[in-house]
Formats: sequence, C-alpha cells, structure tokens
Amino acid sequence: MRVPLDNIVGSMNDGWRINRTTMVGEHLTNFLGSQAAQAETVARVARTIAEREAQRGIDHDLRARFASAWATTQIVKLHGLRNVARFTAGDNPGAEGSISKLVGQENEKELFELMVDAQGAAGLEETRWTRAWLSTRASTIGGGTSEIHRNKLAERVLGMPRDPWADDDASAPQTTDAPVDLRRPLTTIEKWSHAMTDTPLPSPLPAASYIQLDGPEPRLSFLKCRSCGTMFLEPERLACARCGSRDGFDAHEPRYEGTLHSYSIVHRSFPGTAVPFISAVVDIDDGPSLKGNLRGVPFDADQIDGAMRVRIVFDDALGRRDADGNAYISHFFEPLAAD
Ligand SMILES: [Zn+2]
Repeated sequence: MRVPLDNIVGSMNDGWRINRTTMVGEHLTNFLGSQAAQAETVARVARTIAEREAQRGIDHDLRARFASAWATTQIVKLHGLRNVARFTAGDNPGAEGSISKLVGQENEKELFELMVDAQGAAGLEETRWTRAWLSTRASTIGGGTSEIHRNKLAERVLGMPRDPWADDDASAPQTTDAPVDLRRPLTTIEKWSHAMTDTPLPSPLPAASYIQLDGPEPRLSFLKCRSCGTMFLEPERLACARCGSRDGFDAHEPRYEGTLHSYSIVHRSFPGTAVPFISAVVDIDDGPSLKGNLRGVPFDADQIDGAMRVRIVFDDALGRRDADGNAYISHFFEPLAAD
C-alpha cells in the first residue's frame, strides 16, 4: 500500500518517535476509564467475599489478597489523577503513563482472579466474570506488554542503562570497542572498583536481580519452592508457577558449574553492541537454566562442544554504565576444560 507524501505526520523516518509520543497520550487517558470501572469491580469482589464468608467463615487468604488489590486500586487511581493534573497544567508526562498501564492492568488481573476464586465452584462456570478474568490475560499483552512497560520505566523513569534500539544513533549504549580479554581471570569487586580508573567509582551494581554483591565475591541466589523445589530467577514471587504452592521460597545458591544446553554465535546485532559474541543457555548444576554469554571459546561451531561443561564467572558487564557512571557486574560462562 502506498501512502501519499502529504499524509505523512511529522517528517520522513520519524514514525517511531511519533508513535512513542502518541502512545504516552493513550496510556495517560485510556486507562482512566478502566480505573473508574475497577472501583465497581472492587465493590463487587468485596460483596462476593462477604457472601462466601457468610457460608464458610472467615477466609484470611481472600481477605489479604483483597486488601492488597484494594490498596493498589487506590494508588493507581491517585496516580491517574496526578497525571491528569500534570497534563491539564500543560506539562507533558512521559513514561508515567506506563505506570498506569502496567500496575493498573496487572492489578486488574489479580482482582478478577480473586473474584473467580471467591466464587468457589461457581467460578468454574462461564459467566461475565470468568470471561473478564480470561480477558485480563490479554490486556497485559495488548498496548505494550508488561515487559515493555517495565523496560520503559527502568530506562526513562529510573534511568537504568538502555537496551539497544534499532533506531539508535548517537544515543547508542556505550560499549567498549576493544575486544574482551577472554583469558582474564576471575576478579573481585574490589578490583573492578579500583582498577578501571584513577578516580574511585561508585560500587558496581548487579546486572540481574539474582546476582548478589553483598560479599567479597559476587554470588548467585535463586528462589527455590519449599514444596516442589522448582527454582525461579525473579527476586520475589507470591506462588510457585509449577505446583501453585504459596508456602514460600528459600534463597538457593547453586554450584558454579553447569552443562551447555544451547548457544548461538551472534555476528550481527544492534548498533553499539560488539560482535561476535556467543549467547548461551546453561543448565546449572543444582540450579535453574540460565542465559548468558559464553566466552573463552572460538567463534566457530565446529570447535564448540555443544554439551560442554562450563563454569560460571563474574565480570564487568562489557563496559556498560548507567547515567551516574555505575558499572554492572554480570555472569559469564567459560569452558571448564580450559584449566
Ligand atoms: Zn512448587
């Protein structure tokens, strides 16, 4: 399909920026309506829990979940009103719209799940509540997934380092031009802090939430389900995705060795990202499967043992810095046989 030049909004090749600007407007206004509807849903959920408790007695789990969903609903509402106030004052809010979208729709998911649970057996029937519950599964995908909005909040609001974008030019993420020294031994946090520059740097930050920097050496810590032992990468969860248990999780430190599960040799990437590099998935001994860069092997599939044993080491995350100059510590995989 051809679009006449006269119909172009803005200038040529500037569509993505315009799209991002208009999306901010959509996120600011679109969810005010659904927030108003959420107040009605909260009231219905409260009545349904009261009806259930009249039959079966007090249900502390439903009450705790309701209190949490109620509080989040109030916060989202106040945040929406603040955005409207800023907007009408002539200010142009940015990624704050992502908060409304992300928190509002994730909360809606909780709210309708609570409604279906509170209905007991009736929650298994197809009603407008169960249909709405199913549709909340789609609403955290449409209009930018929750992952996209978390990314925007991380980069625009919290100022964390950007993921590379295809339309980046001067603002491409900073990476070192020099190739990584593949034989560099495992260094300590102290060495990173002092060796890279004459002026003392702020303490490095973990590149992922499961990397802990509270000791002399970095370490890995995963959540392990107390019921079934399944491990998770995220820092906190309410329930186990495998067995559904809400009995909680223990912090688990795995062995720092594993077996290569799969890998890709990446020759072309976003502007600013040094290539080639090897992106790998490793099944950690006594741990989950973990993605990361494999180093210390040739960039040649004929010379890589696809099921090799690897160790997990920590190093500076390829020279990336946030706006305040903080370095990042990341994990890397290296062949065990190289010793
Ligand atoms: Zn479990």
